[in-house]
Amino acid sequence: MTETTHERRTRRAQDRLVDVGGDVLVLPPGRNLQYLTGFVEEQGDRLLLLVVPQTGDPVFLVPDLYAEQVRGTWVPAVRTWSDGEDATAALSALFEDLGVGPDAHVVVDGTTHARFTLAVESALGDPTLSLAESVLGPLRVRKDEVELAALRAAGDLADGVLDAVREAGADAVGRTESDLAWEIERRLREAGGEELAFPVIVGSGPNGAMPHHTHGDREIAPGDPVVLDFGARVDGYPGDQTRTVVLAGDPPAAFREVHGVVREAQAAAVDAVEPGVRAGAVDAAAREVIEAAGYGDRFVHRTGHGVGLDVHEEPYLVGGSDRELEPGMVFSVEPGVYLPGEFGVRIEDLVVVTGNGCERLNHTDRGWR
Ligand code: ZN
Ligand code: ZN
Repeated sequence: MTETTHERRTRRAQDRLVDVGGDVLVLPPGRNLQYLTGFVEEQGDRLLLLVVPQTGDPVFLVPDLYAEQVRGTWVPAVRTWSDGEDATAALSALFEDLGVGPDAHVVVDGTTHARFTLAVESALGDPTLSLAESVLGPLRVRKDEVELAALRAAGDLADGVLDAVREAGADAVGRTESDLAWEIERRLREAGGEELAFPVIVGSGPNGAMPHHTHGDREIAPGDPVVLDFGARVDGYPGDQTRTVVLAGDPPAAFREVHGVVREAQAAAVDAVEPGVRAGAVDAAAREVIEAAGYGDRFVHRTGHGVGLDVHEEPYLVGGSDRELEPGMVFSVEPGVYLPGEFGVRIEDLVVVTGNGCERLNHTDRGWR
């Protein structure tokens, strides 16, 4: 990703900051900061912030030990503070130099640890705080070509690993969920994944009926439906794909029907995606198929979530949402039916909204064999 991409995003964020009446945008390490600078770090115990005024260049305020790293970003101005110094005083001086007054409207990242939010408050005195979603949400929700290339690559990576698991077939029977999950993780990493997008889900038999069961020591038995939901990051962007397979043997009597219903619901929802359609209408398209088949009360979650630097972000495909879909939005379409004590079925692909419909980012077989 070029430095001009990050700078261009920051300039657009400054325009939006003005639009929402904010005086300054303050970001700790996190996905918003990564989006504007490419700098990736976790929030730690030391104050580290990017301070973005309405106009002019942003300024990094960082502990000494990070100075070299943030100088590798496009942001020209870097201020440092040393262990033993008062970081809040350094922040106070920075605000003053930027002309940010004590009662300024400060737009803060929603993920900011409370102690850093309090530091921002005390560095100013009596600021008004609001959340950065209003500034960065509309920018991040529409992916550019660089982002789409990464998301396509992450989709291909997940597809390839799913194919490999499917090919293992009967060889995977008798192994524990955790053992198979570890193999999936290893394959994702060996094929170029940077890190898991989220813990690998291997939900065999009744465990598949719990949508967020990850994996455990249950051995996969012949005939078990197995929910496989995983992805890894490529160039910073995650994959997220689900297939429900039977690796060997005959599945429970109800499984064939349920799998067919979920597959039909997923296809109906994908078909409903196009610019201008409401997110809630895509959810409804999936839900109608499942309700008509009599499993409405077993579809216990929304139909999908946006995917970008965050694995769960806007837009959410949830009942009643009147959010309009726009070209460049990327989200999952993942209806499921869960029969407690028996099995679960979920089928998930990521899609990107195009000018007249959508493009799937996952292509591997959706069947259960
Ligand atoms: Zn998933
Ligand atoms: Zn998902």
